[in-house]
Amino acid sequence: MAARRLGQSYLDYAVDPFISGVYAGDPMALPTRLALPKLYYLEQTYGSFIRGAIAKARQPKTERDRLATKQVFSARGGLQHLVNALGQAIKSEHISLGAKNVDIHPEEDHFCVQFTADNGRMQVIRCAKVVTTCGAYALPRLLPFIDEAQLTAISTLKYASIVQIGVGIARVAGPRYAAFGGLVPSRERQNVLGILFPSACFESRSPADGAVFSFFIGGVHHPKYIEMSDDRLQTIAEEALHTMLKYPTDTPIDTIRIYRHPQAIPQYELTTDARLASINTVQHQFPGLIIAGNLRDGIGMAHRIKQGTDIGTSI
Ligand SMILES: Cc1cc2nc3c(=O)[nH]c(=O)nc-3n(C[C@H](O)[C@H](O)[C@H](O)COP(=O)(O)OP(=O)(O)OC[C@H]3O[C@@H](n4cnc5c(N)ncnc54)[C@H](O)[C@@H]3O)c2cc1C
Repeated sequence: MAARRLGQSYLDYAVDPFISGVYAGDPMALPTRLALPKLYYLEQTYGSFIRGAIAKARQPKTERDRLATKQVFSARGGLQHLVNALGQAIKSEHISLGAKNVDIHPEEDHFCVQFTADNGRMQVIRCAKVVTTCGAYALPRLLPFIDEAQLTAISTLKYASIVQIGVGIARVAGPRYAAFGGLVPSRERQNVLGILFPSACFESRSPADGAVFSFFIGGVHHPKYIEMSDDRLQTIAEEALHTMLKYPTDTPIDTIRIYRHPQAIPQYELTTDARLASINTVQHQFPGLIIAGNLRDGIGMAHRIKQGTDIGTSI
């Protein structure tokens, strides 16, 4: 759609890096309807997304529009603090972490969930509702009572792998970037999909003279990076500091953290319609079972928060 409407270079230098940066995916394999639903809606409703964007900007703002900020935001001190606050609100006695040997099965009018808790004891919970939010790949083991064909349509969702490298520099000797970060078009053939600049966006992420960068490497086209050694990945980050961010070659890295996410980002490809249909069928077949998480309803944090709120208020 983007190439048809705005030309190849818009596809290469705007849509491609956006899809690579957000989905770590292949722009040609992700239908606009599924990957960029807001853009799709504008084209369908207003005939073109530019006309749609202008029309939307002219519409009177609702109270909700006024409250919704377009600013980049995070939790103070990092996202862990958001998770901690949620945990405190729910209370630790209602949370079980590190459950093993999970067995879920439906019984007459409820579900029976058994697992080995982290204290080694077997626990049994009988409940009217079960909500899963793990990745699609984990469902066959958790929900073996579901018809195999239905389950396969859900669990075969493809995920892109990503390596995230956090780099901290105590004293920056080079450009200071006042930006969210940058995404790299695939045709530039770089190792790096994108670089975020958390210390430029959020308080207290680095010393006053320093900076923190977050490099994203891998994606559907480059699954091999997840297998690379830490040394090799560090070299890629060091090279990118010089070639992409224009820091001197001998810029010392004071802190480095490497995180490998083998099943990082779900790819909403054409199989999505069959997956959503199967989720509906299964949820009707087993009332009280809710299959949620990033296998539907969007891939970003905001989507997860909205999904969690919608489920929490509807059950
Ligand atoms: C590198 C990276 C950067 C990102 N940056 C951003 C960003 O800047 N902004 C943004 O909006 N979004 C971002 N995202 C996306 C964001 O992280 C996701 O939207 C969000 O994490 C999805 O949450 P989730 O709980 O659905 O899935 P996940 O965070 O993937 O959590 C799924 C959980 O299920 C657990 N699990 C797996 N199997 C089982 C099992 N059998 N039993 C129990 N639990 C199981 C896993 O261990 C995991 O903890 C990023 C993602 C990645 C990978």
